[in-house]
Amino acid sequence: MDESREFISGIIPPKERTEPAWWFIFQEDRLLTYQKSESITIPFLMDLKELGLRVIRQNYLGQLNHHHCYAGEAAEGVTPPTGMNFEGMRQVYGRLDDDLFWIAARAVQIVDWDWTHQFCGRCGVQLRMKPTERAKECPQCGLLHFPRLAPAIIVLVERGQELLLARSRHFPPGMYSVLAGFVEPGESLEEAVGREVKEEVGVDLKDIKYFGSQPWPFPHSLMIGFTATYAGGEISLNDSEIEGAGWFTINNLPRLPGKISIARKLIDGFLAKQEKTSED
Ligand SMILES: [Zn+2]
Repeated sequence: MDESREFISGIIPPKERTEPAWWFIFQEDRLLTYQKSESITIPFLMDLKELGLRVIRQNYLGQLNHHHCYAGEAAEGVTPPTGMNFEGMRQVYGRLDDDLFWIAARAVQIVDWDWTHQFCGRCGVQLRMKPTERAKECPQCGLLHFPRLAPAIIVLVERGQELLLARSRHFPPGMYSVLAGFVEPGESLEEAVGREVKEEVGVDLKDIKYFGSQPWPFPHSLMIGFTATYAGGEISLNDSEIEGAGWFTINNLPRLPGKISIARKLIDGFLAKQEKTSED
């Protein structure tokens, strides 16, 4: 996400380490943090033992700006060390350094995968880590188990100076966003965009164009963003998840999603284009 961040992914930890490392420790999906002046941070230590915290599984992640990074899972029910807390990923966004946040987003998915893929789904035998890639293999049947990723499309639909926004029943009061949905097996991303918008609001699209992507660790999605142009149809709500949808302009915007999301980047991109057009 951030051009200045240098992250080199890795699976084999260094044999010897002379510098402290970043420790992304989770209890289920909550990250171990502590307050440091105005913001929060995570442990940066030579050895996790310094915390006296029992960690049941550990994975090496790679190097962030030349510092080694590890993910770990705290044993169930352990209390955080004095002065530290386990906090949800949504709660730490904006308070934790941006680079650390996006590595934490990677770490939480690897911790979850390690925890939920201990046995082969085909034959039930205990899996072992593959030494050469981020995967586990079954010693009996050879089946490989990779970290789970659920691709989801998200699309900004425009009609002249208007954009299409919708409200899910689960959104905070008054908030609208662009439409999104999971990709189905056998579908291309563009097909998923067309189907999702048709299903949810009954509108047809053209000019579906790739915008950008973002990992979305809630719990293991990859959001793939698109822009598209309205091609026909009237808005009709066909999905019980969507409780409102409409066309908005820069002058009558509802409450929008937070800066963390690609949804907001899509909307901000559209608004910037409108402002530029009105200046010309
Ligand atoms: Zn197996």
